[in-house]
Amino acid sequence: MTRDPRYDILFEPVRIGPVQAPNRFYQVPHCNGMGSLRPRMVAAMRGIKAEGGWGVVCTEYCSIHPSSDDLPHVYNSLWNQGDIKTHALMTEKVHKFGSLAGVELWAGGAGSANLLTREVALGVGSMPNVHGHPFQTRTMDKKDIRDLRSWHRAAALRAREAGFDIVYVYATHMYLLAQFLSPLHNRRTDEYGGSLENRVRLVRELIEETKDAIGDTCAVAVRMAADDGTGTPEQPVSEERREMFEILAELPDLWDINVHNYEHEMGVSRFVQEGSLEKTMHYVKSITSKPVVTVGRFTSPDTMVSQVRRGIVDFIGAARPSIADPFLPRKIEEGCPEEIRECIGCNICYSGDSLSVPIRCTQNPTMGEEWRRGWHPERIQPKSKDATVLVVGAGPAGLEATRALGQRGYNVMLAEAATELGGRIIQECQLPGLAEWGRVRDYRVHQIQTMPNVDVFLDNNLNAEDALSLGAEHIVVATGSKWRDDGFGRYHNTPCPDLGPEEQVFTPNDIFMGRVPQGRVVVFDDDHYYMGSVLAEALVAQGVEVCFVTPENLVSAWGVMTDEHYQTQQRLIQLGVEIITAHGLDEFDGSNARLSCVYTDRARVVAADAVVLVTARIPTDSLFKEIAGKIESDTSGSVPAPTLDKIGDCDAPAIIAAAIYAGHRYARELGTDREQSAVTRQDKLFDPD
Ligand code: ADP
Ligand code: SF4
Repeated sequence: MTRDPRYDILFEPVRIGPVQAPNRFYQVPHCNGMGSLRPRMVAAMRGIKAEGGWGVVCTEYCSIHPSSDDLPHVYNSLWNQGDIKTHALMTEKVHKFGSLAGVELWAGGAGSANLLTREVALGVGSMPNVHGHPFQTRTMDKKDIRDLRSWHRAAALRAREAGFDIVYVYATHMYLLAQFLSPLHNRRTDEYGGSLENRVRLVRELIEETKDAIGDTCAVAVRMAADDGTGTPEQPVSEERREMFEILAELPDLWDINVHNYEHEMGVSRFVQEGSLEKTMHYVKSITSKPVVTVGRFTSPDTMVSQVRRGIVDFIGAARPSIADPFLPRKIEEGCPEEIRECIGCNICYSGDSLSVPIRCTQNPTMGEEWRRGWHPERIQPKSKDATVLVVGAGPAGLEATRALGQRGYNVMLAEAATELGGRIIQECQLPGLAEWGRVRDYRVHQIQTMPNVDVFLDNNLNAEDALSLGAEHIVVATGSKWRDDGFGRYHNTPCPDLGPEEQVFTPNDIFMGRVPQGRVVVFDDDHYYMGSVLAEALVAQGVEVCFVTPENLVSAWGVMTDEHYQTQQRLIQLGVEIITAHGLDEFDGSNARLSCVYTDRARVVAADAVVLVTARIPTDSLFKEIAGKIESDTSGSVPAPTLDKIGDCDAPAIIAAAIYAGHRYARELGTDREQSAVTRQDKLFDPD
């Protein structure tokens, strides 16, 4: 197929100083939990982005010197010759597809505690670590500033040696240079503080010195926020910030623009919509003649074209859309934008960085597996021999298994008890703010519909006999899970007998089925991710008075990993939900709920007409067990028994990303030696290639 001419503008080459990008698709720097610790994993991941058509592919934050270390969060580094070699793995892969490679040079300031190197962190002033570590920075003196400038220059030279085409001066995200620019943080009285011109001095010097060092062959980019946190919601950009851009306007070769508030910049779709940075950053292009890039979870080519045509940006910046679909540009180029696997804005990818483990993605199960498993987001090995596979259950696990098995060429029968495909996605994407999660289903259903070798049977609640009578060589059960109604979870490690009259006790499944509690309701969240808070929000919208109780110290505590906790708690406070943290639900008698403090056991009673238990789930694995029993008891041997597996929530209830991964892995490994596919390679230097 050919490209829709409406999208031609996205494929124009764009000059960036001494280099030229082949198109307008720009993968901005993004962390990934692999960094310098797992260089081959990171190189393979970035290489696939270039293969998928991203004209520029950048690293994550890359430390210029041991005085900036961010462990346990995995960053990258350009400290020495060894680092040059590891980065060259990436730049080589990126260049192979004609793309440019960018590196984001980083100095941490009060954002890095240096837990690995144990160097004292350098700061614009003596400031507490912004992430809460009990360390303060040393106020940089003149020598420190001279040192920093020489480290930055040396790192830029190493970057060029490693093969990078674009080198960043990174002046945002509350790291050192952002703090120098900030009127709030920079209280210095020397020539690097006070007036606007003084606060800009260090960034200006670094741009000029980087250009001087490598500017003849490499472009110099600056990453900076369009606002500085001193504006108002109506007027987010202060006059002073604008002036700052005017001072620096023509110095770099490219502007990479974000916003001061990180939760906004990389907000989950529950709270932040596509293209939402525009209202803050739209003015930047009117100040500079240099190309501008920004992000906005762009997945619609029409929105991208509009951004360029209206003069908001020159490049379409993306981290998450390039993670969910590394082949997004190619799909537009090849005239099939409807094949794009759109990011759902869940930020599971970000949890890799938060937890210091390789990146995962809900939509793209191959993300992070490019090197260690050799998985490609678009290609999969054909089936080794003809066979029919019965997939039971069409939630995320069953849909992804079906899609990938179909892609391998197997005959697939997908049986689903409900009258529509999607499993848990059907209900969850109707909860407040989660509409984009429907893309998990939509992408797969769209793919499956185009496969002649896949048959879908809706409204088919199979029992074991039905399943076996279909004669498939392989059966895979993906029948999901149900929320528990007995209180069992982290707080109660056995079912709790004192949870009141059955008709006043609810689970998320009850609410999904339209059985909604009335009056004053205690939502007991012992799950700690999104379900408790999002249900609380849904209940408030239906006029229910909600008291939210959690044994954690925060609402939706695991949301810290996906950078959505702050907005979640803020939302519940704004909705007037009563929040009781650090308490468990011990008893409910139909009119009162007895809670106890997790620190002191002190009891507290709150009035309640109903409780909603968001604690744990029970795998729906009875079908699997019945089929297994029948296979085992069949001694006739008249027909070979099918292989039998279970995947997703019916195996072990977890996040949607885990179900997608399980479905994908099953499909990849069918007909292969599964023993061999367990992860044994960790990308340590002594691992074989
Ligand atoms: P997962 O997240 O593991 O994919 P879901 O709970 O989203 O799990 O989906 C499980 C799906 O399996 C649901 O759509 C459910 O209707 C379906 N299902 C459960 N039992 C059967 C059965 N016996 N026959 C067919 N479909 C079933
Ligand atoms: Fe998008 Fe979620 Fe994938 Fe991140 S994990 S890229 S937010 S779909």
